[in-house]
Amino acid sequence: MTESESYMPALFVGHGSPMNGIEDSEFATNWAKIAAQIPRPRAILCISAHWTSSNTLVATTSHPETIYDFYGFPEELYRVVYPAPGAPDIAKRVQEIVKVKSVYPNDSRGLDHGAWIVLKRMYPTADIPTLQLSLNQKLTPQEHYDLGKELLQLRREGVLIIGSGNIVHNLALARMNHTGYPWAYEFDEGVAKKIDEDEHLSLIHYELIPNSGKAFWTNEHYLPLLYVLALKQPHERVSHSASKVIYGSISMRCVLVHE
Ligand code: ZN
Repeated sequence: MTESESYMPALFVGHGSPMNGIEDSEFATNWAKIAAQIPRPRAILCISAHWTSSNTLVATTSHPETIYDFYGFPEELYRVVYPAPGAPDIAKRVQEIVKVKSVYPNDSRGLDHGAWIVLKRMYPTADIPTLQLSLNQKLTPQEHYDLGKELLQLRREGVLIIGSGNIVHNLALARMNHTGYPWAYEFDEGVAKKIDEDEHLSLIHYELIPNSGKAFWTNEHYLPLLYVLALKQPHERVSHSASKVIYGSISMRCVLVHE
């Protein structure tokens, strides 16, 4: 296992619409730009809003299939294949290093759109071993954060950890061509401020941040952020990008934790 003195950055991505996997949106451009700025990872571990389970699972498959877990999109999107190899060795490492919770292997899970639409734009050649860790729905936000902390060693081994979700994600209130509700901006910016101030406890107890009740009704798109923040070391910085709300109620903000 190669170990380095420095840490591979960790990234939270606001993934938004699956169309970002094929459209030349400003968000897709931003993801490609981030990939160009950071060292090339030896593997990628993605914690996506779109893999929730009743246990903590890690994908051990060597050839993860591309999962089309969305409905009503153009045919073209269902023809995209992201053929990155899996990373069973990293899955084993995850099981070894995580002590707070049991992590169970899953040998059939592929890559959901929270992972592949982003990775296709970041690493279009699909040649970096990739795996996913599920979001255990039984855990509290604090427990997700504590689990995230335990993944730190992977960063020293050159693994890029990506949390993929959206800080504001309320599809019921989403409106096409809406530039963003004031309350959505207020929550998104409130979260950003807490991130900059390293106020992680406030982010774990996000229900106290103004407008949290509208920002989302289920927290699976928010939780991946906690994994990324849990990995931040005292000497590290955060960089925000794509700080924008679209469709009224979807925040596309990305947060890079880096030295
Ligand atoms: Zn999503």
